[in-house]
Amino acid sequence: MPWWVATADLLLGADCAGCGTPWWGACRECRTHVTGEPTRLTRPTPAPVGFPLTATAGPYDEVFSGLIHAHKEEQALMLTPLLGDRLAAAALELLHAVAVDPGSIILVPVPSSAAAVRDRGFDSTAALARRAARRLRVAGRPARVSSLLAQRRGLADQALLDAGSRAANLRGGLRLRRPAGLLGVDAAAPVVVVDDVVTTGASLTEAVQTLCDGGFDVLGAATVSATVRRRSAGSSD
Ligand SMILES: [Zn+2]
Repeated sequence: MPWWVATADLLLGADCAGCGTPWWGACRECRTHVTGEPTRLTRPTPAPVGFPLTATAGPYDEVFSGLIHAHKEEQALMLTPLLGDRLAAAALELLHAVAVDPGSIILVPVPSSAAAVRDRGFDSTAALARRAARRLRVAGRPARVSSLLAQRRGLADQALLDAGSRAANLRGGLRLRRPAGLLGVDAAAPVVVVDDVVTTGASLTEAVQTLCDGGFDVLGAATVSATVRRRSAGSSD
C-alpha cells in the first residue's frame, strides 16, 4: 500500500462505519437511515426495577451499531454531529412524553470507566451529550451538560457481561462526583440521563437511582439507539 493511501486512511477513514461502503464518516444512505428513524419511547424486556421513562432515536441495528462503535472505539469524531443530533431528538421526545415544560435541563452522560476513557482517548458519551445540548439550545430548549456521575473503581466492563451480571455489576457502582451542594450547577434544574445505547437498562436505572439519591429531579433518559429484542422459540432470556 502506498504511504499516502495509508495516511489518507488514517486521517479520513476509508469506509462508511454503518455499511462499509467506501466513504468518509457516514454515507448518504446511512445518514438517511439514521435521521429517518422515528424517535420513540423504549423499554427493555424484562426491564430492571426502577427503569426510567426512556426515549430513543432508533433501533440498535447494523447501521446504528456500526456508527456508534466507530465513534466510541475508533474515535470517529466526524460522527459526533450526526449521533449527537439524534440524541437531542430523543431528549425532545422524552420532554414531549413527560408533558411538562421543565425550562432548562441538564444532560448527564452515563459514565464510562476512567480506564476506558483513557484507552479510547476521549469520552464518546460526553461528546454526544455536548453536541445534543448545543442542538437543543438551537431548538430553543436551554440545555447544558454536567458530568455528575462517575464509576466507582473496580467495576467490570459492562460490554463483557451478560444481562444478569450487568445489573449486579452496576449496583452501587456509580457515585456523584461531588456533593450536590458543591456541584456548581443549578440543582433545581431537572436532569435527563443520556447514553449511546440502552440494552438491558441496568446502566440507565443505576444512573437515575444515583442521581435521585443525590436529590436531583430526574425526568428520564434519552439514548441514540435501543436494542430490539428478537423473539425466538428457543430463547431463554
Ligand atoms: Zn453507509
